Amino acid sequence: MPEIIPVESLTDNYIWILCDDSREGVWVVDPGDNNPVEAWLEENNRQVEGILLTHHHWDHVDGVAALCGPNTPVIGPAGNRFKGTTRVVDEGDQVSLPWCDLQVLSVPGHTLNHIAFYAAGGFETPVLLCGDTLFSAGCGRLFEGTPAQMLDSLQKLNRLPGDTAVYCTHEYTLANLAFARAVEPENQAVLAYLEQCQELRLRDKPTLPSNLRLERNINPFLRSGEPGVQESCSRQFTQPVTTNQQCFALTRQWKDNFKAPDQ
Ligand SMILES: [Zn+2]
Repeated sequence: MPEIIPVESLTDNYIWILCDDSREGVWVVDPGDNNPVEAWLEENNRQVEGILLTHHHWDHVDGVAALCGPNTPVIGPAGNRFKGTTRVVDEGDQVSLPWCDLQVLSVPGHTLNHIAFYAAGGFETPVLLCGDTLFSAGCGRLFEGTPAQMLDSLQKLNRLPGDTAVYCTHEYTLANLAFARAVEPENQAVLAYLEQCQELRLRDKPTLPSNLRLERNINPFLRSGEPGVQESCSRQFTQPVTTNQQCFALTRQWKDNFKAPDQ
């Protein structure tokens, strides 16, 4: 059975490595820094077979050139800061890896050309590599897209099966949960998951991957249709909140300026 292994990079990025025991070649997702990947390859006696990119930000692509041999496939969205993409993909495209077929989803919002990769089979559960779109208990900042675009993108991801494992690219979970608790102080699932993640981080373990079923219960950005979240936004911004889209936009704005009480 293939595995997906996190390599810590920069301050709080994860570079995900798709690999299995019987194969020397591995696929690397969003290498913003080549150094920790090279260290992992050396330690595990592996080689880069291909690279997947979700979006153009430097902390996702700046290690690509150093990891590429002359024929290494680099598969990613249009308009990348890394100029050597060998195959540009978009919504509806398929990417075949040694272990699975990945379906490409267009998920604009954090950046306009952001994509995600989804594997329905090949791993223990369905797998979603979603870059900086969906985080555990959060979502990416809107650097290029509108709230409506991001909400559409998150709803697209949310239609995938509940047991889909969510491989986001930052360890932001504790800060996101502090915000989720501010939005929904009575949400027991948030409180329980916060405790679980605090425990993991104390032991220096990743809180990822998450899964969609959990995110539906704890992630305020997937819960903009919940009356409790709408009421909370309405109180915070002292205005009536009646639609998902309005609730989502206000929640994003709230998070942009949020400082956790204990930070
Ligand atoms: Zn980004």
